[in-house]
Amino acid sequence: MRRVKSAGDIVETTCTKCRAIMNHTIVAMVGEQIVRVECNTCHSTHKYHPPKEAKADRAARTASPSRRVAGTTTAPRREKKDPAAEAAAEWAALEPTLDPERAHPYDMNAVYRTRSLVSHPLFGLGVVQQLLPPNKMEVLFKDGRKLLRCG
Ligand SMILES: [Zn+2]
Repeated sequence: MRRVKSAGDIVETTCTKCRAIMNHTIVAMVGEQIVRVECNTCHSTHKYHPPKEAKADRAARTASPSRRVAGTTTAPRREKKDPAAEAAAEWAALEPTLDPERAHPYDMNAVYRTRSLVSHPLFGLGVVQQLLPPNKMEVLFKDGRKLLRCG
């Protein structure tokens, strides 16, 4: 089961800054143990938190079902991306290309086009990804995809 990783490899682990499971690049290892990782999303470097520890931690806190991944079973699903992580990765790739100066303040009666930049009072900077006629659109924000009204 255990695959040997090495520095420079990508691992999925909890980012202490993003507070979500993100892709991380391994920065330092001791033997087969990952010690430090860099978050591919926020680029902060922090200690690697082994998933095993997180599971034990969760089990210790009563047997409440996982809040992060619905329908988690004991089977490892590390290879499967959840939509939130995917959206976060997409945002991380997009964000450097965005110019916040060009964002339009979000207005539910305004007409948008795909790839329009919007600035939402709650969600911040976002990119229109899909128009869903007659009056909805899907916008990718730092927090993930949201459905918003539009004109
Ligand atoms: Zn992060």
